[in-house]
Amino acid sequence: MSSLSWVAYQQRMQDETLVVFIPCGALEQHGPHLPLGTDALLSAAIAQSVATKVNGLVAPPFSYGYKSQPKSGGGQHFPGTTSLDGHSLSQSIRDVVREFARHGIKNLVIVDGHYENQWFLTEGIDLALRDIGSSHSIRIMRLEYWDFCTEATLNEVFPHGFPGFALEHAAVIETSLMLHYYPDFVHLDQIPDDPPANFPPYDMYPACSHWVPASGVLSSAKGASAAKGALMAAQITESIAKAVLSEFN
Ligand code: ZN
Ligand code: MN
Repeated sequence: MSSLSWVAYQQRMQDETLVVFIPCGALEQHGPHLPLGTDALLSAAIAQSVATKVNGLVAPPFSYGYKSQPKSGGGQHFPGTTSLDGHSLSQSIRDVVREFARHGIKNLVIVDGHYENQWFLTEGIDLALRDIGSSHSIRIMRLEYWDFCTEATLNEVFPHGFPGFALEHAAVIETSLMLHYYPDFVHLDQIPDDPPANFPPYDMYPACSHWVPASGVLSSAKGASAAKGALMAAQITESIAKAVLSEFN
């Protein structure tokens, strides 16, 4: 979208089947081997892959997200992790959704790549819909892309057993997808060999940074490969496209 002129955007918009995608991520540590922008880079890449299959247009990503939590993103104590307060994220999404509705966009998909964002995105969507009112026919899908991974894909990617999405921060899924979409940004030789994090079933405030492996990686990324990334990217893209077409057609 940012490379289109307003005239070209207006032309695309005339088509009521147009789907606008808003990728959301975070600026957050992803271990020594992945870039800080991983979550927005991946949600943008996946949104772009889906967009080519469904008459989609990708808006600029939200590159900052809600605060990193120790048990899902390592926490706020890492240099570079740069986060928004929850209400700032909700209000920003609210503003942008309301703007797209004002343009006349009918179909909007918010593609989240940062676990901690989801309830603040949900709140922003809800507030925007309340602002917009029932006279407008905009419909909005919100998704976390990893939820589209099928059991068959997970079995192929994790032949020795899937540790669960909670520990997948900077681990096999994100590293493999980065190797597929952005190989130049991945430093395979820097992948740490820490054992998986072992968190208690509660949180503490202020956060206990000693719970988190010093590398910031919550389970090993050693099993990552570009081939696994390609497999996941293709299957996730296919599955999201199917959901989008079934909800918006
Ligand atoms: Zn991430
Ligand atoms: Mn994240």
